[in-house]
Amino acid sequence: MKHKKLGEKYIIRLFKGEKIIETLTKFLEEESITAAYFSGIGAVIFAELAHYDLEKKEYSSKKFKSPLEIISLAGNISLFEGKPMIHAHISLGDKSMTMFGGHLKEATVAATCEIILKVFEGSLKRKQDEEIGLNLLDL
Ligand code: ZN
Repeated sequence: MKHKKLGEKYIIRLFKGEKIIETLTKFLEEESITAAYFSGIGAVIFAELAHYDLEKKEYSSKKFKSPLEIISLAGNISLFEGKPMIHAHISLGDKSMTMFGGHLKEATVAATCEIILKVFEGSLKRKQDEEIGLNLLDL
């Protein structure tokens, strides 16, 4: 990946073959970013999406192994157990222009992935919520 900082925004380009969550997490640790939001577009060659079942308190997931456009990637960054945590959702489009999406577990970049990330002043943390079964923003 490459990045350029413009004011308090980072313009990030991920390369072909890079994993989005893994590469971004490493970048966040290197830059000490703990509160931010981001959006992105691009394409992937692999993606694993998830859907949360509130009653069962568990995610189901599905893997896609084909070239897909990233119609929209949106997420936020907060601290969980002292480390930056990415919460991201993604919409993907296939060759027939059909779109689907979900909670992004991981995806591998195809041609490119262009992300704009805005850093917040201060800190954002997550905390386990027993009733919901997820690590929710602790505001
Ligand atoms: Zn989610």
